[in-house]
Amino acid sequence: MSPTALDNFINNEHVKPVHGHYFDTFDPARGVPHAKIPDSTKEDVDLAFAAASKAFKTWSKTSRVERARIMNKIADLIESRLDEFARAESKDQGKSVELARTVDIPRAAHNFRFFAGRILHSVDEAADLAGVGFSYSQRMPIGVAGLISPWNLPLYLLTWKIAPCIACGNTAICKPSEFTSLTAYMLCSVLQEAGLPAGVVNMVFGTGVGAGQAIVEHPRIPLISFTGGTVTGAKISSVAAPMFKRLSLELGGKNANIVFADCDFELALKTSLRSSFANQGEICLCGSRIFVERPIYEKFLAGLVQGAKGLKVGDPSLKDTNLGALVSKEHWSKVMSYVQLGQEEGGKIECGGQKPVSLQGEFQNGYFLEPTIISGLTPTCRTMREEIFGPVVTIFPFDTEEEVVGYANDSEYGLSCSVWTENGRRARRVASEIEAGTVWVNTWMARDLRMPFGGMKKSGVGREGGNHSLDFYSELKTICLAD
Ligand code: NAD
Repeated sequence: MSPTALDNFINNEHVKPVHGHYFDTFDPARGVPHAKIPDSTKEDVDLAFAAASKAFKTWSKTSRVERARIMNKIADLIESRLDEFARAESKDQGKSVELARTVDIPRAAHNFRFFAGRILHSVDEAADLAGVGFSYSQRMPIGVAGLISPWNLPLYLLTWKIAPCIACGNTAICKPSEFTSLTAYMLCSVLQEAGLPAGVVNMVFGTGVGAGQAIVEHPRIPLISFTGGTVTGAKISSVAAPMFKRLSLELGGKNANIVFADCDFELALKTSLRSSFANQGEICLCGSRIFVERPIYEKFLAGLVQGAKGLKVGDPSLKDTNLGALVSKEHWSKVMSYVQLGQEEGGKIECGGQKPVSLQGEFQNGYFLEPTIISGLTPTCRTMREEIFGPVVTIFPFDTEEEVVGYANDSEYGLSCSVWTENGRRARRVASEIEAGTVWVNTWMARDLRMPFGGMKKSGVGREGGNHSLDFYSELKTICLAD
């Protein structure tokens, strides 16, 4: 069967890219092309901009109640097609269908429902300056937003941008990752069916240097929300900052997972296995540097290795598959280069480090990698400092709290951290010392969308979640009325 060709979605219509060029995207589990993606250019972005700016005139004036109604309908429709979306996400990204069905797609629906509720329930500020006047703040929609997303949680992260953007009355041009465009494409028909007016959300598919850069460089797109790698974030900033664009950057990480000897051992072990290898380790929040207090180091390492060896790597459509395939051949090679580097730097591969030999037949050319644990590296080496973004973790013993906080913070990144201890005072002390946007104590990946989310240092600029998202996607104005 020849690969399906996707179209751009502009002004509620499926349209071919202006120059008519497409490229292949691959099924990572099989290593074969499965869709043709429009290689959009500036001309396509211009068309999308014309539609989005026209739609802005009415959408920005549409009542919150009506915006929320349509967004709730979008959420309902995504949920009604849960299995279809989950299968497509798995086929495109390599993750297990089960993960997509239980995490990615429900969360995408929840993003719309959450921000639909948020705009209905939020109130702005008011202050009475007695004898002088009365002030209140008003949120204004900003205009056409550029929303650029990565491949690891495709629909989940794209909708985390679209939902607050349109809830606040803006319109959008979205550019999903060129590796994973399928569920964004499917979302377009959901938007149509939910009755979202033409031009409010436009989807322009293509590469970062093509469509992505054209969005960032567009002189009349005043805000850019970007999730992706730190190097790309720097490039985007260098273009957007001198144009005074509003920028939200959610970037890479090298998160520490700190396990104290007084932890709930079984819970820490079980969750560390998940935080190391969920989604093939391709979650920006995965804990890739595991530090374990010396008295339990050997026991924890043995348990982690045993657990990793018990994880099933393979056919993403099977319910009991734990790890599917990495997203692309290029990314597989990059991750493997770190397995090699880890050994050159003196590390010992405790388990994994290879493509599973058992995967033959249709999966023999898939981009699979066994869960890999490397010990014996020092925290200053490249393998322990650079983001790998795959099923590869390092493990290292520590003796004191001060020492481990130093290791955790000695990083260019500052996205998240997990701390495992049953000592409440220590938990609060360590959590407050850690330089990361999110610190979990005795858990991982628990998210409350009302709370701020974002990274410190090279992990990002700005915060999203709750009112932080509303602040990013709207201009706040103060109006003062004299007494
Ligand atoms: P990437 O930076 O290569 O690409 C992300 C998106 O940016 C893609 O849509 C890409 O086409 C586009 N892009 C690339 N170059 C561009 C340019 N010059 N101008 C405009 N757009 C451009 O990232 P990726 O490989 O897709 O994703 C993996 C990275 O994302 C990892 O570093 C991971 O940590 C990070 N990430 C961060 C978070 C977070 O919340 N902080 C969440 C998920 C992923």
